[in-house]
Amino acid sequence: AGLKKYFPLHGGFFGKKTGDVKAVDDISFFVKKGETLGLVGESGCGKSTTGRMLMRLIEPTEGSVRFDGKELVGLGSKEMRETRKDMQMVFQDPFASLNPRHTVEQILEEPLIVHGIGTSAERKQRVGEMLEVVGLSSYHAKRYPHQFSGGQRQRIGIARALMTNPKLIIADEPVSALDVSIQSQVLNLLEDLQQEFQLTYIFIAHDLGVVRHISDRVGVMYLGRLVEITDSDRLYEEPLHPYTKALLSAVPVPDPGQRKEPVLLTGDMPSPENPPMGCAFHTRCRECMAICSEERPVLKEITPGHFAACHLYD
Ligand code: SF4
Ligand code: MG
Repeated sequence: AGLKKYFPLHGGFFGKKTGDVKAVDDISFFVKKGETLGLVGESGCGKSTTGRMLMRLIEPTEGSVRFDGKELVGLGSKEMRETRKDMQMVFQDPFASLNPRHTVEQILEEPLIVHGIGTSAERKQRVGEMLEVVGLSSYHAKRYPHQFSGGQRQRIGIARALMTNPKLIIADEPVSALDVSIQSQVLNLLEDLQQEFQLTYIFIAHDLGVVRHISDRVGVMYLGRLVEITDSDRLYEEPLHPYTKALLSAVPVPDPGQRKEPVLLTGDMPSPENPPMGCAFHTRCRECMAICSEERPVLKEITPGHFAACHLYD
């Protein structure tokens, strides 16, 4: 709640602080046990920073992160390490996040060693089990990451995240680097694993098409702010925020008869170093009104369970 991440901007003589980049600017949301929350927005909107702040891989400038009733901000490093057993990340580029000189067995064993779980024999047995769970087999354990395809490497990344038996998985664009046919295989695997292990997911993506199927609720971010959040079906059927509408119009519709009038996004996303006054989206919004460049709209419940930050609904 109230999460902020400001990076200091240094410029001018002697590296004097000239301002802040508001990478994440006051966002609040919750995730229920067992559900999948999608977080969507263009690159630079702060979605990855948000995911990392939840794990405290990045320290929030301000705000609170509660996990299982426990406040994580300000927790000592030993306790934080304990808690991280229960929350794991899956990254976009499985190759970059897997040490190329380690075998799959070493990669998967590492989180257990870090947390002091099991004997060597027990750890190796768990490696074999987890490889099976993600659709590989224990005979892959002695191989190196470069010997696998992109989809297989992402399966290894997922197996690694599951090693400590976590409750929450934060997946940061886990399928963005994969071919479309492989994407659906990995998404199906994530859904099966959610059922099997009662996992809660936060699924970060830049594409609304990818998160639709997997998410129970979806939050849309723009320039460090949450602009809309509601149930997945509702977001796709009755989007409220002009930015969400524009993003949705870019998602391919299987039946061309259903295709809506495209609302294309014009212009680039403004720099977070110098965000527009008022509504951060007003420089690109087709429904922009006078008030929009003056007053920042707050996230409000427009219909039950459907929140949006836009002056159209004042
Ligand atoms: Fe557009 Fe104004 Fe709504 Fe912002 S507040 S999205 S500028 S209508
Ligand atoms: Mg990112």
